[in-house]
Amino acid sequence: MLTHSSAVGLAWLLSMSLFGCTWVPAAAGSVVKKRTQVHMGTLVSITAVGADEEAAHRAINAGFQEIRRLEQMLSTWIVSSELSQVNRSAGIVPVIVSPETLTVVRRSLQVAEMTDGGFNIAVGPAVEAWNISAEARLPTGAELEAVKPLIDLQAVHADMWERTVYLEKSGMRIDVGGIGKGYAADQAAEAMKRAGATAGVVALSGDIKTFGRLPGGAPFPVGIRHPRRDGAVLAEIDLQDEAISTAGDYERFFERNGIRYHHILDPKSLQPARGCQSVTVIAKEGIWADGLDTGIFVMGPERGMELVEHLDDVEAIIVDAEGRVLISSGLRHRVRWPSGNERKGLDR
Ligand code: ADP
Ligand code: MG
Repeated sequence: MLTHSSAVGLAWLLSMSLFGCTWVPAAAGSVVKKRTQVHMGTLVSITAVGADEEAAHRAINAGFQEIRRLEQMLSTWIVSSELSQVNRSAGIVPVIVSPETLTVVRRSLQVAEMTDGGFNIAVGPAVEAWNISAEARLPTGAELEAVKPLIDLQAVHADMWERTVYLEKSGMRIDVGGIGKGYAADQAAEAMKRAGATAGVVALSGDIKTFGRLPGGAPFPVGIRHPRRDGAVLAEIDLQDEAISTAGDYERFFERNGIRYHHILDPKSLQPARGCQSVTVIAKEGIWADGLDTGIFVMGPERGMELVEHLDDVEAIIVDAEGRVLISSGLRHRVRWPSGNERKGLDR
């Protein structure tokens, strides 16, 4: 079975909460508008709070425009993108890139270090060997061995002074699929502020950035998807000037002999990471939330939660391989558990 359900991330609950309930009072002079488009291979919903309708729409336009701009730089599906040029130049020559591309690559290397190599933007050749979105087939050991030397972050050079990115070995590839949507959400939110929005939400599927509050003064409510029950909400939380991001083994996967093979690979074994069903990270910025969710997914629940507890302004909800829920200390009093959720055996 092949599943691709990233479109039903956290965003749907957000939209229900914002527009399905009448308890959100619109203060005089404040308008809330929302639009959805497809970018970066996923559904992108932008909600803006503005002084009037025109201001809200202007901010939404600015948000989408920023996401389109970043996609042209960062997408490895676009042959003219900066990252595609970097990949084509692997083993040949450093490529001069924009400050945005340099930022994403440098942050990616930082997240890799923080997560003990769990996050690795050079994992692309192994992702391709698995090709989980397109076919349900297991790569052979020899195929994985062949790409192993290419998954080497020591060979990724992001030079701040030269403003270049260089991949030392030919055949190497970097792909910011595990962090770029969080960054795009941050940047779109900034563009919305510049366009005059007083508050807003940018949701690229499950990678969400919020700023400000709703007109009545309430923070933005967001739902976290249950990793094993389609359409069900595991937990809800209110966000203000925060980002939330989820990495799950349900986004793209197939099953063979009762084993789930999914799209988040452990860069050490080159097998799908086994420790978690989902990892949700809350941070001030989407770039951290998105990078860390993937990296922590690979680290596994114990080491992952230990890392979260050591980081300022970073919180997490981890559903481990057995379905147990772990929640970081700073979130315990913030999370709401929808009634009907079985809480048996859950650590919270
Ligand atoms: P998505 O929202 O697309 O599911 P995630 O944040 O869950 O994004 O990241 C998964 C994507 O990142 C994969 O589709 C793959 O391209 C890439 N990836 C897979 N394993 C890793 C890894 N260990 N480190 C960094 N990126 C990874
Ligand atoms: Mg991620």
